[in-house]
Amino acid sequence: TIPTIPLAIIPSSLEPPALIEIRGEVVMRTEAFKKLNRKREEAGEPLFANPRNAAAGSLRQLDSRITAKRPLDFFAYGVGTISENIFSTHWEALMALKSWGFQISEFCRRLFHLEEAIDFYRHMSSIRSTLPYEIDGIVLKVDSLSLQERLGTVSRSPRWALACKFPAHQETTVIEDIVVQVGRTGVLTPVAIMRPVNIGGVTVTRATLHNQDEIDRKDIRIGDTVLVERAGDVIPEVVKVIEGKRQGTEKPFQMPLTCPECGGKVVREAGEAAHRCINPECPAKVKGGIIHFASRAGLDIEGLGEKLVNQLVDRNLVKDAGDLFFLTKESLLSLDRMADKSAENLLSAIERAKKPSLARLINALGIPLVGETTARSLAEHFGSLENLAKAKAEELTAVPDIGPEVAREIVNFFSNKKTRDLLDKLAQAGVIPDDSGKPSSHMRFSPFFGGKTFVFTGTLSRMTREEARREVEKRGGKTSDSVSRKTDYVVAGEQAGSKLLKARSYHIPILTEEEFLLRLEEE
Ligand SMILES: [Zn+2]
Repeated sequence: TIPTIPLAIIPSSLEPPALIEIRGEVVMRTEAFKKLNRKREEAGEPLFANPRNAAAGSLRQLDSRITAKRPLDFFAYGVGTISENIFSTHWEALMALKSWGFQISEFCRRLFHLEEAIDFYRHMSSIRSTLPYEIDGIVLKVDSLSLQERLGTVSRSPRWALACKFPAHQETTVIEDIVVQVGRTGVLTPVAIMRPVNIGGVTVTRATLHNQDEIDRKDIRIGDTVLVERAGDVIPEVVKVIEGKRQGTEKPFQMPLTCPECGGKVVREAGEAAHRCINPECPAKVKGGIIHFASRAGLDIEGLGEKLVNQLVDRNLVKDAGDLFFLTKESLLSLDRMADKSAENLLSAIERAKKPSLARLINALGIPLVGETTARSLAEHFGSLENLAKAKAEELTAVPDIGPEVAREIVNFFSNKKTRDLLDKLAQAGVIPDDSGKPSSHMRFSPFFGGKTFVFTGTLSRMTREEARREVEKRGGKTSDSVSRKTDYVVAGEQAGSKLLKARSYHIPILTEEEFLLRLEEE
């Protein structure tokens, strides 16, 4: 599918092992990217924002024939699983990959001193705009594989590799207007509309201004000349106003008092930076909620993007995400530019989305303060949407990482009539998580541990502290690193120190390791 991935390993002096996992990066060269976008423009298709998005989008194609048509390139940068340890350094591995027919970056260097590394970084930074592809930095790796192993990995990022990013691209331009967007939670976000400016190869016309406080802090006014920055894939940002260019005609900006989408009242809660539209029927919220529901982090309904959702809501075809599952071909055909084939494709994409994982479904619902990670924890602990929907605040706070604020949002969300209507529609449509009904493998809510906070001090002899923590969490308890008045139990191992003294002064019950283990066995 990608020409620079060889179909077979080319024989070389080094015999390849029986099994080898080759890691690398798929890249679209800048020229190829421009050509692809020109073609898409002619065909009336949406353009890709940058080569990185184009490459990622091409890889995500379900039909590999489409991927094969895209001008993709592959650079190998390392080895994962391997059946025999035939390499002792990263460099050897790269050279072997090259000899077997893989493309590796021509800029790979073996460096021996920190000064060399710094020089190399400066050199790459200076030639980056002349390269045939975009790079955002370099990666320094420890060459010796045995040292790599000793250094290990922390939460998925290896300690033996260091990404050194280049500074962001910056340019100056003029803010022609400031408009307000309303998100799915009703938050109003001011957006700067700017005179188009090319920043590091990408034309930028908009930048987020975050909120009124940010605008006030940077004193950004309509008509100002500003310094704008674009780093990687993130939304461009206004760094500062060039005050020397002020003419006196610039206009300060104030958030509107009514929602630009629905005319509803806009409020700013004490202690919050954001202004919000408080109208629950606000179409911007309804649309945003459905877009989120159908997005990749949600039920991943292919082809159901922003434009289509806007039309569906504006024409009253859907009022919430549940209505998506009751759309008919006839109703879809009434939309702009909706052909027979695309209507069928959309309906089958919606049909396919009916068996999400529970975590995805929870995330798709768009519960305030609940993101992908929290959704996963909730799915693991409650095992079904029904259990989650009837969970009380104290059961929710027993889940690791869920505090009282999040728990309150979850309870509010499920007690809302709109939510109940939505859940009814989903159930009626047959949207059932493919992993629900299974008993949760992780959670046993135990009367002794459930909802309690444990602190460990000293050395445990029978398990590591991490293992002990996991055992507590499995039983619905929480752990903390420091003793406070909220601590329920302190488990004291050998040579317990200051935490034990503090626990005594707070009169917190103290368990020996033996007592703790007994409790674990009982529950
Ligand atoms: Zn509104």
